[in-house]
Amino acid sequence: MANIMVVGSYVVDLMSRTPHMPKPGETVLGGPFQMGPGGKGSNQAVAAARQGANVTMVTKVGHDLFGDHAMENFTEESIDTTYVTRHTEEATGTAIITVDDQGENTIVVALGACGKITSTDVQGAEQRLEASDMVLVQLETSMDAIRTTIQLARKHNKPVILNPAPFQQIDDDLLQDVAYITPNETEASLLTGIEVVDESSARKAAKQLIERGVHAVVITLGKQGCFVYDGSDDGTLVKGFPVQAVDTTGAGDAFNGGLATFIAEGMKLAKAVIRANAVAAISVTKTGTAIAMPTMADVEEFLR
Ligand code: ADP
Repeated sequence: MANIMVVGSYVVDLMSRTPHMPKPGETVLGGPFQMGPGGKGSNQAVAAARQGANVTMVTKVGHDLFGDHAMENFTEESIDTTYVTRHTEEATGTAIITVDDQGENTIVVALGACGKITSTDVQGAEQRLEASDMVLVQLETSMDAIRTTIQLARKHNKPVILNPAPFQQIDDDLLQDVAYITPNETEASLLTGIEVVDESSARKAAKQLIERGVHAVVITLGKQGCFVYDGSDDGTLVKGFPVQAVDTTGAGDAFNGGLATFIAEGMKLAKAVIRANAVAAISVTKTGTAIAMPTMADVEEFLR
């Protein structure tokens, strides 16, 4: 079994349907309401665990009901909570989501506790990191925690997947220690200043990221699949799987959790991205984020 450490966010998704978006000052009678685990770190951890990885989560939740739910949920998903700490003042992160009848959404994320993961929290998990095959980190927490994660991975010679979402500027010195960076089109554009819309613009952006020190680049391109470049040839567009998509939120999280697992198991990048495309394609055929993550058996069945 591959051992993966995920350092990142946990937020609870609080989603209400609404006939139309309320205007400022307006109250709308909406519903139904749905609650579920979310946050990029946690979603990716769930995706990896369901693909068979042994996952340790490093995050922070509050001393509140949502924090209790988070702990229960991690346990249900067989995710190790040794390094999930509880903030004494900050509330558990929340994402307040509204979706109207046209399928448009608005989202307010209050990171709360998981925005306050510190360097010390990450250092506390150093021994576990040393025993991991792969470290997976996003940009949905403090830059201090992200920097420490990447530096400790370097110290122990562990590969890092950096999913640069949601976008924040990252210092180039950190990129040198990133084995795989996995931006979507928007993040790749913001990272490089090159507008990524297709294969050729993805190639340009990927080449720039390699020049800046990343070892391999995987740019996810929605239903088109992903563009993969490790600096050795001209890069390859790996086609996505055609499916009937009903909800694409969390597609990137499914992809990253899968990719981390497959590479940690020793799969070559070219093969791992095909399988990660499959994990993500299955996830978009169901509503929700973490709850839509497929199991290993689902992926086997899908690829048969
Ligand atoms: P994000 O969710 O971060 O914006 P993308 O939209 O690029 O990321 O999607 C991530 C991955 O999910 C893609 O590389 C692809 O494998 C898969 N995917 C996304 N949308 C679809 C879709 N409509 N059909 C099939 N696969 C999809």
